[in-house]
Amino acid sequence: MSTQEKIYLDYNATRPLRYSARQELVQGFELCGNPSAVHSSGNAIRRLIDNSRDTIAHALKIESRRIIFTSGATESNNIVLKNFKGRVIISATEHSSVYKVRADAIVCRVTNSGMIDLEYLEQLLLETEEPTLVSIIAAHNETGVIQPLDKIQELTKKFAVSLHTDATQALGRTHFDWNSFDFISFSGHKIGAMTGVGILVINPDKPLQPLMHGGGQERSYRPGTANLLGILSLKAVIQEALEEDWSNAKKLRDYLELQILEISPLSIIFGRTENRIPNTSLITMPNVNSATQVMSFDLNNICVSAGSACSSGKVKTSRTLKGMGYSDDIANSGLRVSLSPDTTKQDVDHFISIWKQIYLSCSDNIKMDSDKNNIETNAQNTPIHHNSNNRAFSIIDKLKYYCSHTAKNKKTEPVHCIKEQASFKKKHHHKRTHKTHSSEHAILQFH
Ligand code: PMP
Repeated sequence: MSTQEKIYLDYNATRPLRYSARQELVQGFELCGNPSAVHSSGNAIRRLIDNSRDTIAHALKIESRRIIFTSGATESNNIVLKNFKGRVIISATEHSSVYKVRADAIVCRVTNSGMIDLEYLEQLLLETEEPTLVSIIAAHNETGVIQPLDKIQELTKKFAVSLHTDATQALGRTHFDWNSFDFISFSGHKIGAMTGVGILVINPDKPLQPLMHGGGQERSYRPGTANLLGILSLKAVIQEALEEDWSNAKKLRDYLELQILEISPLSIIFGRTENRIPNTSLITMPNVNSATQVMSFDLNNICVSAGSACSSGKVKTSRTLKGMGYSDDIANSGLRVSLSPDTTKQDVDHFISIWKQIYLSCSDNIKMDSDKNNIETNAQNTPIHHNSNNRAFSIIDKLKYYCSHTAKNKKTEPVHCIKEQASFKKKHHHKRTHKTHSSEHAILQFH
């Protein structure tokens, strides 16, 4: 690896298309026929889709008839939650495609390490006899924390309510009995298939109202002509994804975390003591804004993320960390690193050395300014005390350059987006009541 090469440590955002998917697609480009057509070309395409459904069902050890092809996990989540007739209980750290669907959702609190509070969930389930859907993320996209779904299942069975899980980040990285859920959401691009394809696992005995109406495809759950190439790519990668060996990624992730804690003992690694998927780490760099970190890494050809990817490329205060009870300062200083099975020790060592550089350069100098959350303001108004290695100024200069450059190109608008954090915070008063544990005293125990 030369330092000019990009190091991609953002596998939870998306991963490269697998070779097997590419091969499948090359053949798929030649195909033509609408699977709903009556003629033989249509029939052939329909058979390909049904065979893909069977292959995927076999790999997941569930019945074929339970698999609905969608455009991705966002759509799958929306189908389950949007029209569910009754009460919906979600966790405080759900992905936005669950969290934002129902204004009337009841939010179950989580612990400081991001685990669902089972006693609280039980209390919520005790409160009403209404039909209820519990929707809990299987493995968290930011922290990597795996929820105790077996215990959650015991509760949903006890109270005879439905259970949905968003398993987008769990597929292939941890094991569950997929048969034990009523509804599951999966996404293709997280496992090396194409973007724009996903799966909703349904329970045929618990029908849902579709979001869209049309030709009745996918048992009417998802009308519209099927995304043949996406489905073929999913079929091509599913077994490989389920058999993936993550032991190297886990070793490197654990090594990375130890090294970071050596450099900065005050850094928090969220959910470190919990069961986590092997490739994910969410780490704070004390007093350094997440956006500053992401941009500084980008300037050093390292792709990382400040949490979940969102549509506008903006970095917002982590709702997940707020939901886990952390202060704005902490929630604004997290960086998500998500490794691949092919990440090398060299990649990780390079990441660590850049992390250290940014930390030494910025931590004394770019303090979070809660009134003026704005890199330019900080850069201009905060007295900059050069530390012994004299790096601070160059990083700030680079950031200024980055901000003006990207604003000119209208790709992303980091200055605007960092400013927006303040208004986001103001707007983000809790629409829904949920209690979180106060975390300030518990922070150090996660090291
Ligand atoms: N849920 C989780 C946990 C995710 O990580 C993502 C992707 N960021 C989604 C849902 C949305 O997936 P898709 O891109 O397939 O819509």
